[in-house]
Amino acid sequence: MAVNLLDFDLEGLAAYCESLGEKRFRAVQLYRWIHQKGESDFEKMSDLAKSLRGKLAGAAEVRGLPLISEHRSADGTIKWLFDVGGGNAVESVYIPEEDRGTLCVSSQAGCAVGCRFCNTGHQGFSRNLTSGEIVAQLWFAEHRLRAEDGERADSTNDTRVVDNVVMMGMGEPLQNYAALVPALKTMLDDHAYGLSRRRVTVSTSGMVAMIDRLREDCPVALAVSLHAPNDELRNELVPLNRKDGIAALLAACVRYLDKAPRDFVTFEYCMLEGVNDTPELARELVKLVKGRVPCKLNLIPFNPFPASGLKRSSRERVMAFAKVLQDAGIVTTIRKTRGDDIDAACGQLAGEVQDRTRAHERMVRAPVRVVRRIDRHDTPLQETKA
Ligand code: SAH
Ligand code: SF4
Repeated sequence: MAVNLLDFDLEGLAAYCESLGEKRFRAVQLYRWIHQKGESDFEKMSDLAKSLRGKLAGAAEVRGLPLISEHRSADGTIKWLFDVGGGNAVESVYIPEEDRGTLCVSSQAGCAVGCRFCNTGHQGFSRNLTSGEIVAQLWFAEHRLRAEDGERADSTNDTRVVDNVVMMGMGEPLQNYAALVPALKTMLDDHAYGLSRRRVTVSTSGMVAMIDRLREDCPVALAVSLHAPNDELRNELVPLNRKDGIAALLAACVRYLDKAPRDFVTFEYCMLEGVNDTPELARELVKLVKGRVPCKLNLIPFNPFPASGLKRSSRERVMAFAKVLQDAGIVTTIRKTRGDDIDAACGQLAGEVQDRTRAHERMVRAPVRVVRRIDRHDTPLQETKA
C-alpha cells in the first residue's frame, strides 16, 4: 500500500523526502500543502518541484478516513463517524464555542482499559489507530469546516476553525503512544496546524510510565481521569488503577508539571449517582490533592448509555460535591453536556468495534458496587450490590 503522508510529523516527512533524494525544504512545502491547505492531490501543489511530484505520484498518498456519517446537534456540536477498515469505525466530535472550536479526537478503535461508566470501554478493543488515522480526524474537520465557513460571505477560508484538540474520543491515548506522539507533533507544528501546547490536551486514565515519557517527548496539557479519591473505589471504576495506584499517579502528575505548558493538571471526575458522588468522598478528594498536586477539578455529569446500569448524579449532588472542593480552594468546573442528542457527549462514543477482548460480557457479569461512607472517620467502606 502507498505510504500515507498523514503518518509523518515534519521530521518523519523530511526523512521520507530524503529517502527519495529530496531536500528538507521540500518536505516543509509538502507538509504545508497537506496540513495548511488541506490538499491531497500532488498535481495541485503548484510550487512543488515537478520531479518530487512525479516521485510521490506512485509511492505515496494523503489518505484521509472515509466518512460514514455526520450528525449535527441542535447545539452546533458535530459528530463524524469514520471507517478505519476491518469492520471498525471511530468517532470525532467538533464542539463550537463562542470564542473557539474544540475537536475531540479518537486514538484507538475501542479501548482496552474497560472503565465501567464508559461506552467505549464496553465496546472492548480492536486496534490502535495509526498516526495518520489520528491526524486525519483533524485534517478532515479543519478543512471541511473551513470550506463551510468560506461559503459565508463574511469570512475568508484560511482562518483556523479548530483551535483546541482534546484526545478524549475513543481510546486510551497513552496506550497508543508510538502513534500518538507524531500526531501531537503535527498538531503543534507551525508548518501544520500550529496549535499551542496549552490547547492540545491528552486525557488519560492514568498510565504512570507513559505520563513520564510524554513529559520528555511532547509535553502538552494533561487531563487525568481520576473519578475516585481512594484506590478501593478507583480500582473498580478504572481497572488499570490496580497496577500503579493513586499515589504513584499523583506523583507522576507532579513530575509532569515541571515541563508542562500549564501549571496545573486537570482531574476529570465522572459523577455517578451513589457511587462516587458523596460529600464525604469530596472531602477525601480534597485531602488527597490539596497542597500536593496543583490541579483543577472538572466534574463530568455521567452520560448514561443503556448497558452501563449506572445513573447520573443529580444536579444537587454535583453542586454539593463542587462546593466542598471550592470551599477548600480547589478550582472546580462542571462540564456542560454538549451534543447528547446525537450521542456525542463524553463517554457516549461507541463507533463500531470488532471487540477482541469480550469486554462487554465481562463487565455485565460484574456490576459496579454502590459505595457509601457510613461515617466520616476511618470506618471501612460499606458496600452493597448495585
Ligand atoms: N481514555 C481517556 C480519554 C477518553 S475518555 C481517558 O479515560 O481519560 C474522555 C473522558 O470522558 C474521560 O475523563 C472519561 O472518564 C470520561 N467519560 C467516559 N465515559 C463517560 C460517561 N459515560 N459520562 C461522562 N464522562 C465519561
Ligand atoms: Fe478507555 Fe477512557 Fe473509556 Fe476508560 S474512560 S474505557 S480509558 S476511553
